[in-house]
Amino acid sequence: MAVKAVVFDLFGTLVFDKFSSEKYPLFLSRLASFLNLKDSDFSSLWQASYQDRALGKFETLQDNLRWIGNQLGHALEPSAVDKSASAIVDLTRQALTPRAQAVEVLYQLRLMGFKTGLMSDCGPAVPLVWKETPFEDLFDTAVFSCREGLKKPDPKFYQIVLDRLAVPARECFYLGDGHSGELDGAKGMGMKTALIWSAIDIDEPERLVVKGWEGITLTSLAELVSLLAI
Ligand SMILES: [Mg+2]
Repeated sequence: MAVKAVVFDLFGTLVFDKFSSEKYPLFLSRLASFLNLKDSDFSSLWQASYQDRALGKFETLQDNLRWIGNQLGHALEPSAVDKSASAIVDLTRQALTPRAQAVEVLYQLRLMGFKTGLMSDCGPAVPLVWKETPFEDLFDTAVFSCREGLKKPDPKFYQIVLDRLAVPARECFYLGDGHSGELDGAKGMGMKTALIWSAIDIDEPERLVVKGWEGITLTSLAELVSLLAI
């Protein structure tokens, strides 16, 4: 396998996907109470604004929160908006804790001579805290949907990573947990692909997305090293 670079998804691949966990609705309720908004109104507009958040349509988290307030006819208290934005950044910081083997595997792949890229569909909190994470030094490039105004599976989004890595798609391996059509998107570009999904990821709900996948499936990040060592 003439692979020169490995591109990783972030949530559900290198870190647990806290934003899909059962506890996330409780977090949103807390934000709604900071903002003095009805829980269900806030939560549904927060979820409904995900696409715009991930596409960088809101320059800051505060803009996103103010937009929700406007939709509900409330001018939000600036201090409550800042407090909520900080809580989102804090949760994101926690969420970016590497899962087991992530740091070791990235380090190992780089020792083996592979370039490494990250591609994440995310809101503005992720690039804000990225530099504080151990991942920062382990990637040749990290691209965030909210910074590029592009999401998976848009071919232009993959092309940005490939260009920055200076590696053609056919020499690139993509690993993800399968959300947002990311694996078909990567395959469509000509990249080699694998799904990662571990039944022991108890923080994550059952991933319906994995059903029907017929390609390579890994149950741990360490398996990637053996796969690429061949
Ligand atoms: Mg994911």
